[in-house]
Amino acid sequence: MYHEYDPPEWTGETGFYQADYRAPPAANESKTWAPLCVWAEPTYSGDTMQFSMQSSATYPPPTDREYLLELVQVPEGVTGAPPVGTVWTLPLNQTFTLTLPTYRTANGLEGYQFAFAIAAVPTPTESIATPSSPSGPSSRQANNGGDYSTGGSTSNLGHGVEYEFAWGDGTQSSWGPPSRSHSWSSPGTYVVKARARCATHPGVMSVWSSSLTVTVTAPERVTLTILVEPAVAAETIPPAEHPRGEVVTVAAPEPQDPCDYFIRWTGDVPVGHEYDSPLSITMDADKTLTANFYDGQWVPGFCGIGGGCQFSMGLVCLAGLVFMKSVPLKLKPVTHRRRTKS
Ligand SMILES: [Zn+2]
Repeated sequence: MYHEYDPPEWTGETGFYQADYRAPPAANESKTWAPLCVWAEPTYSGDTMQFSMQSSATYPPPTDREYLLELVQVPEGVTGAPPVGTVWTLPLNQTFTLTLPTYRTANGLEGYQFAFAIAAVPTPTESIATPSSPSGPSSRQANNGGDYSTGGSTSNLGHGVEYEFAWGDGTQSSWGPPSRSHSWSSPGTYVVKARARCATHPGVMSVWSSSLTVTVTAPERVTLTILVEPAVAAETIPPAEHPRGEVVTVAAPEPQDPCDYFIRWTGDVPVGHEYDSPLSITMDADKTLTANFYDGQWVPGFCGIGGGCQFSMGLVCLAGLVFMKSVPLKLKPVTHRRRTKS
């Protein structure tokens, strides 16, 4: 649209302008020019008249806008004109022509009036489809994890999605893949739901899915049995019950004879933790641990300081240090006292 420089506004002394040189609107700005007056000179003889709008070849209209023409006034007494309020979306690179019943006047303000508007093309709003109801075990024992899955969410803009679970115990998963594991620490009934969000636009998320009810029962009791080998090396520890899933810390029992030493665990010891003391063990089943000791022999008058431990593998104590086990080598201080093994 063009508007005369002088005066610089749309409404001026004459009421009619040919050009608008005001700054073009910013990308998201809307602007309306109105009224655009259309009439015929009193000398015009045709029954119809044409009103055309054409985009500039020199300054082509931006393609991220829409261009709208609305009819806002039809002259009095004119019949056969489009109804007031009709809106035309103007094509970008074609001439738009409207044929109207002729209205002759010396005062253009009495003629047809239009409003021409430009506006940003509205960007589609993103929405995320609600994910499916979580699936997975509907009954669990406390402290026993189960895998739960959801899915089926999409972005209407084709963006990637990620999922979150609410576990019904006040905790939620992180955002991520549609399958997760969870365990509940207390017996009860829990309502598990999921939702999804756009991975690109984290603020755009779905509503919560329908729910899965999970019933959590008290954990089964399992028994930890600790044996001592050889049996004379240390006091045995009575078997103890634990809730299934509990993580238990056990230390090797104290040897009864200072010449005996804990070597390693055998039985249900986690691989790689045979020499740990204390040892952490997850009670996911009945478990038996055997504390294996080195059965040292007490030899009076040895080592020149009155006594010492002599081991069946032929090593003797020296300056209060002995081998504790063969592999890996580990030194352990020993209290030397003048005594004999009974
Ligand atoms: Zn998105």
